[in-house]
Amino acid sequence: MDSIEYKKSSISRTTLEYTGKAKKVYATDNPDILWIHYLDQATALNGKVKETIRGKGELNSAISHLLFTYLTNNGVANHYLYTISKTDELVTKLNILPIEVVTRNYASGHFVSKFDAVAMQKLDPIVQEFYYKSDELDDPFINDSQILALGFATADELTQLRQESQVVNKKLTRLFEKVGIKLIDFKLEFGRTKDGNILLADELSPDNMRLVDIETGKSLDKDVFRQHSGDVTVGYHEVLTRLQEII
Ligand code: 5GP
Repeated sequence: MDSIEYKKSSISRTTLEYTGKAKKVYATDNPDILWIHYLDQATALNGKVKETIRGKGELNSAISHLLFTYLTNNGVANHYLYTISKTDELVTKLNILPIEVVTRNYASGHFVSKFDAVAMQKLDPIVQEFYYKSDELDDPFINDSQILALGFATADELTQLRQESQVVNKKLTRLFEKVGIKLIDFKLEFGRTKDGNILLADELSPDNMRLVDIETGKSLDKDVFRQHSGDVTVGYHEVLTRLQEII
C-alpha cells in the first residue's frame, strides 16, 4: 500500500456531518469540500450486523482511490479529489440523491433470492435497478415513476444515472478482467453539484461490488463477511495488490 501518494493539504476537518456504516463524513473549512474517513468496520443486513475489522478502512480507502483515479483518467467525472492519509480522502461536496443504482452482469445476491434465478448466470441484457436509500426501510426497490412522484430525481437525471452506470460498468469490467477478476454486480451513488450536474459519488470498493476470481471462483468481496466464510480482508488485499499492478 506504500505506492499511494498522500497529498499534503491545507484543508482542515471541522464538524462531523454524518456517520455511515463504514465511514465518517466531515465538513471542512472549504464549503465545497468534504473529508471522508474510512472506518475499520463491516456491516451486513443494512447495518443490523456490525463488526470491527482491523485494516479494512485502509484497504477500502486504497482500493477506492485506485478505482476513482482510474475512472477520472478514463473520462468519468466523479467526486473524488485526493487521498490525504491511509484512511482519509477529500471529495467534492454534493447533494446526494437518495437512490442506489445497482448494475448486475451476473445473477447473484438478491437477484437470485428474489427470482430463484440460477446463480452466476450471465445476464443479457445487463440488469439495472434503483433502490431507495433508507436503512429504516431496508433500502426498498423503487421504480422510475415512484422516484419522479416523490421528487427524488428528474427523468433526465434517471437517464444520466443509467448511462453513467453503464459507462462505469464497461470500464470497471474491462479493468478487473485484466487482473483476472469478474465484476458480478455493484452499487453506485450519485449527487448533484452546486450547478445541478450529476456526479458519481460514494466509494468504490469490495464493500459495494461483488468480485470473483476468474480462475478459482473465489469471492473477493463483502460476501465473505455476509456469509461468515472467512477473513474478509484477504480478498480485499488480493484486489488491491492486483489493481496496484496495473493502475
Ligand atoms: P444485492 O441487491 O444483490 O444485495 O446487491 C447487489 C450489489 O449492490 C452488491 O454488489 C452489493 O454489494 C451492492 N449493494 C446493494 N445495496 C447495498 C448497500 O446498501 N450498501 C452497499 N455497500 N452495497 C450495496
